[in-house]
Amino acid sequence: MKYVNVYIQNNIAKIDRLYTYKLPENMELKPGMRVQVPFGKGDRNRVGLVISIEEEYKLEYDLKEIIKVLDYEPILSEDLLELGFWMKEKYLTKYNQSFSPLLPPGDIKVIQKIAVIKEEYVPKEDEVAFFKELEKNKYNLSFVDDNLQYGKLVRDLINSSVLSIEYKVETQISAKILKAVKLKEDYLSRISKGNLKLTEKQLKVVEFLQDKGEVLRSELLKELEISDSPIKSLETKGILEILDREIIREPYEEVAATKLNTLNMEQIKAFRGILNSKKTVSLLHGLTGSGKTEIYLKVSEEIIKEGGQVIVLVPEIGLTPQMIERFMGRFSGRVSVLHSKLSSGERYDQWQKTKNGEVDIVIGARSAVFAPLNRLKLIIVDEEHDSSYRFHNALRYDTVEVAEKRMELLEGKLLLGSATPDIITYYKAEKGLYDLFELKQRAVVGARLPDIKIVDMKKELIKGNTSIFSELLRKHMAEKLEKKEQIILFLNRRGFSNFVSCRSCGHVIKCDNCDISMTYHKNTNILRCHYCGSTKKMVSRCPECGSKFIKQFGVGTQQVEEEVKRIFPRAKVLRMDRDTTVQKNSYDEIYNKVKNREVDILIGTQMLAKGLDFENVTLVGVIAADLSLYISDYRANETTFELLTQVSGRAGRSQKGGDVVIQSYNPDNYSIVYASNTDYENFYKRELKIREQYNYPPFSKLINVNFSSEDERYIDEVASDVLLDIVKSVGGYKLEYTRIIRMLRIKNIFKSKFTLKVDPDYIKELTESIKGVLIKNKDKIEKYNIYVDVEFI
Ligand code: ADP
Ligand code: ZN
Ligand code: ZN
Repeated sequence: MKYVNVYIQNNIAKIDRLYTYKLPENMELKPGMRVQVPFGKGDRNRVGLVISIEEEYKLEYDLKEIIKVLDYEPILSEDLLELGFWMKEKYLTKYNQSFSPLLPPGDIKVIQKIAVIKEEYVPKEDEVAFFKELEKNKYNLSFVDDNLQYGKLVRDLINSSVLSIEYKVETQISAKILKAVKLKEDYLSRISKGNLKLTEKQLKVVEFLQDKGEVLRSELLKELEISDSPIKSLETKGILEILDREIIREPYEEVAATKLNTLNMEQIKAFRGILNSKKTVSLLHGLTGSGKTEIYLKVSEEIIKEGGQVIVLVPEIGLTPQMIERFMGRFSGRVSVLHSKLSSGERYDQWQKTKNGEVDIVIGARSAVFAPLNRLKLIIVDEEHDSSYRFHNALRYDTVEVAEKRMELLEGKLLLGSATPDIITYYKAEKGLYDLFELKQRAVVGARLPDIKIVDMKKELIKGNTSIFSELLRKHMAEKLEKKEQIILFLNRRGFSNFVSCRSCGHVIKCDNCDISMTYHKNTNILRCHYCGSTKKMVSRCPECGSKFIKQFGVGTQQVEEEVKRIFPRAKVLRMDRDTTVQKNSYDEIYNKVKNREVDILIGTQMLAKGLDFENVTLVGVIAADLSLYISDYRANETTFELLTQVSGRAGRSQKGGDVVIQSYNPDNYSIVYASNTDYENFYKRELKIREQYNYPPFSKLINVNFSSEDERYIDEVASDVLLDIVKSVGGYKLEYTRIIRMLRIKNIFKSKFTLKVDPDYIKELTESIKGVLIKNKDKIEKYNIYVDVEFI
């Protein structure tokens, strides 16, 4: 007897387990196939994924049997299954978090088994009744009960290779079927044999089909401007047939072929280096506009020539239409696009097309890293530093690490590209774990880097200017409006929290232990560090200079809009942030308005930093660089450097050149200064020193252990038991940990957490410890209904 461990999708997140079923003697299956199983009260049929098969099982109670195998071949290839296990082990995820992203979109509704009979087979006497029944059911085997009447016969026929089964899977989302029309093979002889008289319209149809072969019926009607009746009569006469055709929903229109550029010397060096690299990972570091995408295209071309397939990941697909256009232009008809902005039908079709091997390239947001390609040899991650690839909210994996693992398993290549690589990535390249290639020039001759100026807002205050805009920014705005050039005003509010700063000297209140700005909690009037949980009383005077101008820092896009309208009442202003772009199409609308110059000034948040390339935008104003400088995160400086570099890249896309004005109360901050000089190397060196000093990544790994419950009473007690056990179980290496921090209550769910900091060399040991401790405390955790979630940050 064999036992099958099955993962059942969309299970309640709290229950994290596989379900074991008996495998009936006559049934064969492999991991990665879907099965139908009895589940829960009343044994309702559910679809599950086979994760593993075991020879032995400790029987505590009688197990149920698998009802049906739903796939002919595994829908998950071996590498993807292994990747699922790897994620579960490495990130201590729930099954839902590591296996759901691997599965095709949509829950399965019906599975049809269709019999295919060997052509020349003549049924034996006792099989005739079955074959009659088969024909009556159009070869659909649903009338066969696996265990009774014809079940044994079907198995015998399969064993003697007379019958094989084709599976048709229908999901909640189903394929789009349209009617198509084509001439029957023997249409000519039918016309001549029967001396058929065809009407003029019928003749037109026949001629059209002779010319075109198979066409969609709707197309035929439109093209010939006829009604349905000539088609119907031709069908009756046996001249043409009407068929069902599965139509792939294509979310993107075909685009004109992309022109080929001859690579410059730098690009050639990188291109060859990447192809010849002996390492799994290559990092391509180059300014915006230095020709990275051109290299992605060329490397992909080579990989495809050798029979491989490629995945291209982009941060937020809605914001990067150019990447899709360039790949579709270069690899016409061989590209599929997978991301969550597509309708579920479109996503389903793109997945099917990919699985069927009809494409060479898949472009998508982070979850496309799991695209079902059988000959995958290259994964490209564009803007690899982007936070959308890394752990947050429901995302419990690092897309770049997953991509690296998948390429290791398949002996392929991972290519990371960025103008501002993640500090950890660059560190790995520096240490020789990755190969590094640099592009230092702009690819288009004559395109000039923008002229970047930093303004000290403290001095504006001394001059008596209390407006949101400095004199310099205001002057530039007036000039550009005069010349009918366009302006972007940018507020870098990503991860913004309520920090407290002095408007006279720029001092910001930080945690003494963590060097991270503290968050102001208005209702209790205290300052709190979101890393270690320590608190301070809110101050009334600046501890540095004694000024009374110390308060919570804040400015919103709406405020900026009002100020612009007050100063430049005739300018056409448009605001773009999460609030104004929730609807699916409004990003495109805004994009087009700017492109068509219906807007003089565009105001927005970090959404603006990506993908907006307009040659008429010649001024970018960063209203308050401080906003991202003091987010409560050790990456605050890195984030600021990234955002400023990207947003500066929005100005000066053409020969017109451009200006960037960065306003700040801390104009000497290194991330601002280095960003204004487009100097990644020195920024990196400086940042790395600070990371080392405070023992932040890459010198450590951070792990949050989160507890949540509807019941407040036991949450901290359980958290402290778990923490204590972890600390006790650590042997031979140093572990730093914070106290237990109670988070804000959201929708009546209480949350507590603590953070662990460990030497990266010991991350495996610590992960094992945490796993063991959670198993040890399982009863207590379940009894008090607490949900524990481990988050590698
Ligand atoms: P990145 O991805 O680094 O931002 P791109 O590949 O988009 O850079 O290149 C920027 C611009 O330069 C694009 O318009 C591209 O067509 C052009 N370009 C890239 N490489 C070359 C080249 N070798 N010769 C001429 N133009 C090039
Ligand atoms: Zn001060
Ligand atoms: Zn702290």
